[in-house]
Amino acid sequence: MDLKPSEVATVLKAEIEGFSGRMQKSSVGTVLMVGDGVARVHGLDDCMMSEMLDFGNGVNGLALNLEEDNVGAVLLGSDAKVKEGDTVRTTGRIISVPTGLQMCGRVVDALGRAVDGKGDIKVGPNDMRPIEGRSPTVPERQPVKEPLQTGIKAVDSMIPIGRGQRELIIGDRQTGKTALIIDTFINQKLTGGGDPNNPNQVICIYVAVGQKQSTVKAVVDKLEQNGAMPYCIVVSAPASAEASMQFLACYAGASMGERLRDEGRHVVIAYDDLYKQALAYRQVMLLLRRPPGREAFPGDVFNLHSRLLERAAKLSKEKGGGSMTALPVVETQEGDVSAYIPTNVISITDGQIFLESSLFNAGQRPAVNAGISVSRVGGSAQIPAMKKISGGLRIQLAQFRELAAFAQFGSDLDKATQSAITRGQRMTELLKQPEFEPVPVEEQIVALYAGASGAIDDVPLNRIYEFEKQYVAFLRSSHADVLASLRDEKKWTDALQKKCDELCKQFKAQFLA
Ligand code: ATP
Ligand code: MG
Repeated sequence: MDLKPSEVATVLKAEIEGFSGRMQKSSVGTVLMVGDGVARVHGLDDCMMSEMLDFGNGVNGLALNLEEDNVGAVLLGSDAKVKEGDTVRTTGRIISVPTGLQMCGRVVDALGRAVDGKGDIKVGPNDMRPIEGRSPTVPERQPVKEPLQTGIKAVDSMIPIGRGQRELIIGDRQTGKTALIIDTFINQKLTGGGDPNNPNQVICIYVAVGQKQSTVKAVVDKLEQNGAMPYCIVVSAPASAEASMQFLACYAGASMGERLRDEGRHVVIAYDDLYKQALAYRQVMLLLRRPPGREAFPGDVFNLHSRLLERAAKLSKEKGGGSMTALPVVETQEGDVSAYIPTNVISITDGQIFLESSLFNAGQRPAVNAGISVSRVGGSAQIPAMKKISGGLRIQLAQFRELAAFAQFGSDLDKATQSAITRGQRMTELLKQPEFEPVPVEEQIVALYAGASGAIDDVPLNRIYEFEKQYVAFLRSSHADVLASLRDEKKWTDALQKKCDELCKQFKAQFLA
């Protein structure tokens, strides 16, 4: 047989070209020990931090501890199929999850797999995104400047949240933390009619960490009943899931949000809650024998939360101007905000909404403590009309609380004190709000103005809620122009004020008659 040198060269070239595509770098090791959802692996010399490991049988792991002679890994899934002596391969990638608008309306686990029984989610070749990544740098950001309307009067008026901000929701058990998030999500329907394909629609992501499955189901049901599910993604890592899934779920949710943020969309993501995430992380790290620090948390528990929350951002114009707003939740014990995890998260976020059991039990719901709740960047994110109306509200309420406490001791009050108390009581009453009834910002403004101007001082306290509802309905049906001008021009003018004074007077006469 004749061998032509030119032919040999072409064959070799073709082989080499074909080969480069198939080339995959992996190193191979063996399992030394496995149990409690963690494994130690020997022989993975060039393993990277946070690299995905292949344990065979469809089981994956995540390298978390790189030690001199072995690698500590946490298993993503049951450890029942892994045994000592098994072969482990590195994969050269870090964990990725599917992202994109097709995730909307779905409930997924920490790896982005559907768990709502509605079938698999279609994933395109460019839809996978690593769960950890670089957060935007300073030049890639711009200051927070647009409001994220929660539809909750007490929040939008006194603790306004801007798009791209990180606002902590903190409080004891059963103080309405989750309810606040659900109402905020429902209110986002106003931004784009509830259609995820509308570029103005704010997409909402709810990450449930360490909660009961039934609680997560209840949240999904509430979103569905209120027509919010089509533009929501729920990432669920319930208490029954592996600890690794519980702490990874937050990053998975953040990646799904980031993808949309980078495409110029607006996203709000809630992590419910970060205390449980820290507990799951602590559990894994203690099993991997990382040295425990304060309260037995590993030393990098601050970084666990800071690198997550840094991903919330308002991007610059050049980067498309998208935003991701983070609403982390932290549960406190007995209202103790000075514990380790709460202080960490308070210092990372741009403010906090403090929910108090005593207010909640006294019927002040949402139980926002306006005295110690703040939003450090939100002021520039209020529409001008709301800014004008709510400017003195916080101080007014603080004065009222002081006077009310003082007035308990005596009955002889001078007229000024009496009227300040009357006004304060009406304003407190106006700030109460039932669940699932978010109020559009223009309606909040007219209602709060009616209270602040003193127009409803003579309406009995127990009829304030009724008055507010009917007054707003009256404006909606007979004077829609007032609400429309507030909604579109966002300004509070003298003419508008005069009109509101007149209309309120007119309606009150009719209401009290
Ligand atoms: P957990 O610590 O268990 O997660 P949580 O702080 O998230 O609790 P929620 O579950 O939101 O609290 O609310 C606790 C209860 O209070 C629920 O039954 C809810 O229906 C009720 N609730 C919350 N907000 C309001 C409100 N504004 N008006 C009336 N009821 C409310
Ligand atoms: Mg809750």
